[in-house]
Amino acid sequence: MAKEPKCKKCRRAGEKLFLKGSRCTGPKCAIVKKNYPPGEKGKRRSRTSGYGRELKEKQKLRHWYNLREGQFKNYVTEAMKKQGGDEDSGDVLIESLENRLDNTVYRLGFAESRPKAKQMVGHGLIYVNGKKVDIPSYSVKEGDLISINSNKKEKDLFENLTEKLKNHKVPSWLFLDAEKLEGKITGRPVAEEVEPPVKMTSIFEFYSR
Ligand code: SF4
Repeated sequence: MAKEPKCKKCRRAGEKLFLKGSRCTGPKCAIVKKNYPPGEKGKRRSRTSGYGRELKEKQKLRHWYNLREGQFKNYVTEAMKKQGGDEDSGDVLIESLENRLDNTVYRLGFAESRPKAKQMVGHGLIYVNGKKVDIPSYSVKEGDLISINSNKKEKDLFENLTEKLKNHKVPSWLFLDAEKLEGKITGRPVAEEVEPPVKMTSIFEFYSR
């Protein structure tokens, strides 16, 4: 099946999922220009069932983190297993998604979108503790040092990156050294700080059906 264009995913979700970097904050963003679901019936679409709402929320978070269905479901299943323990399953889910290496690269500002970050990791441009890690789903942990492969720093992709990163804000669990193009994991992701654009309970309800 052909991959759905990124902007269509946002239009279907009904909000910006920030999948295209700088375009997402400009006037060419499809949510600014055509804020209705794609397709002929998009403009007329009205009531949605409970299942439809849960599906929409699930898809929103899955696309936000740029994951395939199987991968996303695994994260949700793992989080649900912890239900009943001390931790909230929504917080567990967000923590594991935020700890992905591709997401961390995006949060550090090394890539302008999560899809670009995934590509960078896959192409071997990212090091963890001085060693190349080309697995986007790799889970980072406190103390890890994330850097750009020094042989690739000259690539166009990183042009003016130090300058661009000077005003880049990272979440509280990350530390960024813009000069060295390095980042450190200093703690655990905080779900309230992430503010995912979804109703988390709907996601668990969807997979509990
Ligand atoms: Fe989504 Fe970005 Fe496309 Fe806007 S430009 S619709 S935020 S991917």
